Amino acid sequence: MYLYIQTPPVNNSNKVAHLVEHCVHNKENLSISEYFNICDIDAETSFWYTKFNLHHFDIKKFIHAIEYPLTNKLIKKELQALNEELQEKIFTQKIRKITEKALNIKEDNRINYKEIITYHKKYYNKNHYIITDENYDIIQIWIKTIKDTNRKPQILQKIHKRISWEANTLIVLKYSHWKDQIIANFIEILIDTRIEYQERYMKWIYTYQCSSMIEGTNYITIAIPKLQYNIEYEFFDNAKKYYKELLNDWKIRENQIINVLYKNQLPSKAMIQEFIESISYETIQGYITDK
Ligand SMILES: [Zn+2]
Repeated sequence: MYLYIQTPPVNNSNKVAHLVEHCVHNKENLSISEYFNICDIDAETSFWYTKFNLHHFDIKKFIHAIEYPLTNKLIKKELQALNEELQEKIFTQKIRKITEKALNIKEDNRINYKEIITYHKKYYNKNHYIITDENYDIIQIWIKTIKDTNRKPQILQKIHKRISWEANTLIVLKYSHWKDQIIANFIEILIDTRIEYQERYMKWIYTYQCSSMIEGTNYITIAIPKLQYNIEYEFFDNAKKYYKELLNDWKIRENQIINVLYKNQLPSKAMIQEFIESISYETIQGYITDK
């Protein structure tokens, strides 16, 4: 069972949300038996949400525990641990920095204790929860979803940059609609299958190259390695069919939940299928080719 909490960024940073995640499953002077009550909880903070994997935990008890008010002392202790964790420079953070510089978005990481306590109160309550089972089927949703508005995905920037062996072009899309996320996700899968087909099956070379999708304040960045080949129509067409089948897959279904957490939108599977069908070869070419 998973518990998702809507935890939006503060000043274009997810540090407050991340710190709150650390605080809610810790407490001062944790006893051994209390430790064994929490040691199996996996938590992760993305840019707009926090996810807890509850395994065998009792959901009611867990929700009760995380809603318990935070104290300054606890925040201070956890902040120390968090700063150590953030020392590691990861690929995602690098991409986010480059994108935000290009879009002129300023990230502010400063932490204010009062703000953290208020943030916790504001978001760690039932108006912001989704509970799903292990297959990402929604068991309970408290977040109010809004009606779909029709909008075409929009490219904000294309940035050519070699970050590591993984990325050469960053395609930055505006993220204000579920379609933006679906198209980014489709491009990611299209690129990865095309690389695998070429390298692994045509050239018999094992490859680690792949693309990645990074969600930020109001954008999605797709980092793609330099492609040595065209994506031909036949490949595109088959990838579309493949993606529609993937809509039954847990990863894509989790994306649906993420859309609610990001934008309060919950499109049906039929709506997504229809949208995928409407994507033209020319549109995708325009997205992925250089310049
Ligand atoms: Zn952490």
